[in-house]
Order: sequence, then C-alpha cells, then structure tokens
Amino acid sequence: MDLQEGDQPPKPFSYMADGLTRKRDDIFTLNEWRDGMFHVEQLACAITYTTAETHEIVRSNLDKSPLYCGRIEGIGPRYCPSLEDKVVRFADKERHQLFLEPEGRHTDEYYINGCSTSLPFEVQFAFIRSIPGLEKAEIMRAGYAVEYDFSPPTQLHPTLETKRVGGLFFAGQLNGTSGYEEAAGQGLIAGINAARQVQGHAPLILRRDQAYIGVLIDDLVTKGTEEPYRMFTSRAEHRLLLRHDNAQKEAMLGAGSEHPVGLFGSLGHEVVDEDAETRTLLQTLKQDNQPWAHLLKRPEITWPDLPASFQTVDAEVASQLETEIKYEGYLRREQAHIERNRADEDRSIPDWIDFDVVPGLKAEARVKLKKIQPRTFGQAARISGINPTDVALLQVHTKRGKAAALSK
Ligand SMILES: Cc1cc2nc3c(=O)[nH]c(=O)nc-3n(C[C@H](O)[C@H](O)[C@H](O)COP(=O)(O)OP(=O)(O)OC[C@H]3O[C@@H](n4cnc5c(N)ncnc54)[C@H](O)[C@@H]3O)c2cc1C
Repeated sequence: MDLQEGDQPPKPFSYMADGLTRKRDDIFTLNEWRDGMFHVEQLACAITYTTAETHEIVRSNLDKSPLYCGRIEGIGPRYCPSLEDKVVRFADKERHQLFLEPEGRHTDEYYINGCSTSLPFEVQFAFIRSIPGLEKAEIMRAGYAVEYDFSPPTQLHPTLETKRVGGLFFAGQLNGTSGYEEAAGQGLIAGINAARQVQGHAPLILRRDQAYIGVLIDDLVTKGTEEPYRMFTSRAEHRLLLRHDNAQKEAMLGAGSEHPVGLFGSLGHEVVDEDAETRTLLQTLKQDNQPWAHLLKRPEITWPDLPASFQTVDAEVASQLETEIKYEGYLRREQAHIERNRADEDRSIPDWIDFDVVPGLKAEARVKLKKIQPRTFGQAARISGINPTDVALLQVHTKRGKAAALSK
C-alpha cells in the first residue's frame, strides 16, 4: 500500500489553535509537534485499491445486499456510494481507491474509507482479502447499512429553531445533512442561538456571502433536501469571498459586538488589530516611491519579498492581506454585486404579512411561502417556484402597510 502522510505543518480549523502551526513556511519535526501545541503525533494513512477479483465477488453476491435488492429504500449518500454501488454504477472502472485510516494509537484496527457495504460477513471477508495489503486482514466489526429518518429542514427558522416548537433547536443529520463539518457547523449555530434566545439577545444568522454555514443553513431552510445534503464550495455563489483566511473575521463581524466573548477567543481581536496596523504599513512603506500594497499585486512579489518589518506579522494575517491585495479587482467586483443585492437580502418581511391575502399571488406561491415562512425578501426569492413577480407582489403589499393590508 502507499503511505499517505498528513499535512506538514497541519492547518488547524481554529485560530485558537495557536503556536507552532501559525508560523509561515516552517517545517516541524514530530518531536517539535509533541513539545509544542501539537502533542498529537500524526499517524499516516495508507492507500490501496480494489481488484478485478474484489469486483467479481461483489457482483456475484449483489442479491444478498439489502442496499441493492430493495430491502433498504432510502437514497444513499450520493457522494460516498457503497462498494456495491461503485461496482455496478461505475462498471467500467477497473479499481476503486480505498483509504486505510488508523483507528487509534494503541490498536491495530483500521477504518476502511471508501468501502461501505451491506453485504453479509462472509462476502465482506472474501472481498477484503482480495485487496492488496489486506490478504491477511481480519474483520473486527462487519460493515452494515443504516436507514434513518430526518426532520424536513424547511420546518426550521434560519436560527435552527423549529417553527413547530418554540425554543427547540435542531442541528446535524437530523436536518437531512451528511457529514462531520455539516453537523458541526449547524451545532455551533443552533447552540449559539439557543443560548442567545435564553439571554434575550438577537439571533446569529450568517449570510450566504459571509460563510459556508450561511449557505448551508439557507439552502436547508429555504429549499429543503431530497437526499443527504453535503456542503460543497460550488453551492456558494460568493465563494471568492468565503476563504479559510478570512472566515474568523467574518464570523466575528456576523456575530456583532455584543457577542459573548470566548467563542472565538480574545486572539481574534488581536488578529483584527494587527491586520489594521499592517494594512496601514503596506500603504505607507514604499520602494522606488511605490507603496508595498501596490508592489504586492505583482505575481512575482510575495510576502517574503517584503522588508523585515513585515516578516514578524502573524502568518494568517499576512496570508489574508496578500490574498486580498493580489485579487483585489475580483474581490471588489464580487463585493459590489453583493451590495446591489443586499437591499433585498436585508429587507425583512414583516410578521403581520398574511400570505393568504396578498393580492395576485398564485396558489402555488401561497403554499410555498406559508410553508417556508421566509424572513427576508431575498430568502423568498430563493424558494423554488417563487418568481420575481411573486416577490414584487409581496413588496407592494408590504409597502401599503399593515393597517391597509389588515383592513382588507
Ligand atoms: C460509517 C460512517 C462513515 C462516515 N464517514 C464520514 C466521513 O468520512 N466524513 C464525513 O464528513 N462524514 C462521515 N460520515 C457522516 C457523519 O458521521 C454524520 O453525518 C455526522 O456524524 C452526523 O452528526 P450528528 O451530530 O448530526 O449525529 P450523530 O453523530 O449520529 O449524533 C447523534 C447522537 O445522538 C445520540 N442519541 C440518539 N438518540 C438519542 C436519545 N433518544 N437520547 C439521547 N441521545 C440520543 C446518539 O447516540 C448520537 O451520539 C460517516 C458516517 C458513517 C455512519
């Protein structure tokens, strides 16, 4: 099998994971990791592939797979198909890649990623041993398939509170998603909003142009999902702005100044201060009468080419500034596009609106609006089946005012 090492140095999800990993271009030895922030030694994964024999064993036993013979009817996760699925749907492929992930530091067990299956144990045993590197493998626990229910996410407010039961917040697979990040992202928002509701604070709703979490939740509550939903960069229309390097700043801005301290750590504020100071320096310090902010736009000039005073800047701050400066033109165009749409996006649909009495709406539009209960005109426009005319009718009705609408 081929070894697959982890990233060197690893990139943490959080700015709170401070220390060694945040230095730019540094290579760390395992011992340095152990002594520093990363006490966790990274274990390598391994890659291997299925063979013609594996495929033959799977094919000749398909009638025994509940996923395949119709005993399980749910739609499987499209993006991680079972081995049965791969062998049948991609019959032209001679082999499929499998990742062996160590289960822990003190065990010989490996999780085989890419090999989900509901075939009987004997069949699994046979096909596992047909894979290079696994000829002598033992199976500790057989693979199995599960079918689970979910609660329609269109029954949720963007805060992740259900419309059905006040004060009850839902997150994760329960809302029809699949995936670790999808579950964690929703858990964060549901948890924050549950706490904020109890404290009497305004809810935290991240917009589609601020965060992938914003896209994920807006998609779920506005459109619902017919199959296990996964978040992809391609689902975000403003993905140029949604980057690893600016994620935390956007989250802090989205959270507002009264946001409970501690969620993102005090480090976040230091990062913001350093960011502002460095921006000023980039404009004032010059070479040949050209500010470094201009010079950095050139493809051949990167951060290490800057004078010594810039080299102590936090690596994340430097990376973000360099990205912003190099791609400034594209980012500005994207930002202008967002600003143009912002008016609709931010304009709330008042609570008093009764979709049943808005004149001119088609029956289908009424049903959809009543079901989703959009909070803003932007969200209303994204509901499938709602067209720009419906949104215009809603706007006219709103402009006429509550008194006029209710007196009808
Ligand atoms: C074999 C397998 C491999 C996967 N691989 C990946 C992968 O590589 N990458 C990826 O992103 N995703 C993967 N996923 C999907 C991912 O694991 C899930 O989508 C995610 O963990 C869902 O998180 P959750 O918090 O919504 O639900 P869960 O993690 O299922 O948490 C629900 C919790 O609720 C508890 N619970 C249930 N009922 C009750 C009750 N009545 N009272 C109290 N507690 C209760 C359960 O015990 C459980 O701990 C995989 C899933 C499986 C099954």
